[in-house]
Amino acid sequence: MDGCAAALWATVGPLADGAARARAWLASRGLLDDTLRAWKIGYNPRESWAGRTAWGLPEELNDKGQPKKAFKIPRGVVIPCDISGRLWYVKVRRVPGEPFTCGNWPGNCQHILTEPGVCSACGFDNAKYLQIKGGRPAMFLADTFKGQRAAVLTEGEFDALLLWQAAGDLAGVATLGSASKDLDLRAWAGYLLPISPLILAYDDDTAGSEGAAKLAGLTARAKSASVPALRPGDKDLTDFHMAGGDLRAWLLAELKRHSPLPSEPIVSEPGKSQQRVTVRWPADSQVGVVGDEWRRLPDGRLEASYTPDQLALVLVIAGYDVTAADVQATVAGLIEESQVI
Ligand SMILES: [Zn+2]
Repeated sequence: MDGCAAALWATVGPLADGAARARAWLASRGLLDDTLRAWKIGYNPRESWAGRTAWGLPEELNDKGQPKKAFKIPRGVVIPCDISGRLWYVKVRRVPGEPFTCGNWPGNCQHILTEPGVCSACGFDNAKYLQIKGGRPAMFLADTFKGQRAAVLTEGEFDALLLWQAAGDLAGVATLGSASKDLDLRAWAGYLLPISPLILAYDDDTAGSEGAAKLAGLTARAKSASVPALRPGDKDLTDFHMAGGDLRAWLLAELKRHSPLPSEPIVSEPGKSQQRVTVRWPADSQVGVVGDEWRRLPDGRLEASYTPDQLALVLVIAGYDVTAADVQATVAGLIEESQVI
């Protein structure tokens, strides 16, 4: 992986031409060198075979207890999904104009293509993105949620990187990697718990709308956003940016449209055994209350008081996989930062 990160920056030697082509293509999507370096975007200069561990992925054993054989790594831009120092998946994006052998290996097609798509020799559809075996679904750039109240989910990795580059100080930015991927609320509860709203900036097409609708059904915190098409056929954040759109201005407008009412600090009442916390939930919150420890505020929000144990319980009932200890830690962090969940 580190070799691939270095290969993207080669300027002399046998890798220089391919690396320059990969960098030019990334630049044509608006991505700056600092962004690529920050997230360790790399380049695999030639189609190669490698074992999982060589790519930082956990070893997998076959039925006989032997390590599984090496697998093919395509040539192209390498996207590692590293979250808090742990590698979840690796994807390769073929670079337009860069020749590669048709991926129809079972059919033994040796045709050379220069663009992803349908092979003219065998009809096999060569995808733009290829996921390296051994990876697990994850929320790419999830670390950017830390310390944020709002976040954006984009449809793909390059849109997420571009939005982070333009406006990563305003909100967390992440992606599940495609429109059809499911969001595992329980697995990512630690990242999602403080986030409201979760703005869905999916592509303006059928797959994008369907993906966003599915996520919006999971949690009331998810809010669909529209990405303006400045040119005919534009459908994503990268198109918007390349057509001269201002991503910061777009995000500020979406945040204004979807943010909960102005926040006030949590009201804490230190108790003898457990510190009680008062939380003001958005009006459409799905999280429950305990006994008569709640009231409806004039603006529609729900103000409720909990011990950390009770808060953990109502969050678990609402679908979050949390423990009282998680909640205690989160509550302590929120009080320190004077934030409302
Ligand atoms: Zn073919």
